[in-house]
Amino acid sequence: MKAKSTALRNVTSTSLIGLGLLFASQASANECELKIAATDAMQFDTKELSVPASCKEVTLTLTHTGTLPKAAMGHNWVLTKAADMSAVATEGMSAGPDAAYVKAGDTRVIAHTPLVGGGESTSITFSTAGMSATEAYQFFCSFPGHWAIMQGSFKLKA
Ligand code: ZN
Repeated sequence: MKAKSTALRNVTSTSLIGLGLLFASQASANECELKIAATDAMQFDTKELSVPASCKEVTLTLTHTGTLPKAAMGHNWVLTKAADMSAVATEGMSAGPDAAYVKAGDTRVIAHTPLVGGGESTSITFSTAGMSATEAYQFFCSFPGHWAIMQGSFKLKA
């Protein structure tokens, strides 16, 4: 550290101050990125996801850590208001796997990924516009028969 010039230290300090200001006005990109894993045992690895309410966009990566094919043990990640979950999941069953078991044009669906099979992963970025820190949201897998177990809460932290 002693070898560093004063000039370099000044540049570093300035950069850190700049970053500090950025963080103060908007959540860092990392805080707005979520990862979730799903298994052959029909489980997500978490029951709770949250991001700061200051995230304008959220990027979620779903990884299927199992080995079973999509047709047998496909998983996706669907986000709705908690109150909408069961209806969206039930009505999505007839949409079929190519539509990721999500009814076409379902405006109750805030975001959803395609289905993935074992060893695959998928990523989506969605806007939080219209979402609220006071609303209860739920994420789930809409593969038929999975949503009753594969679900959890999603929150925007104020
Ligand atoms: Zn599933």
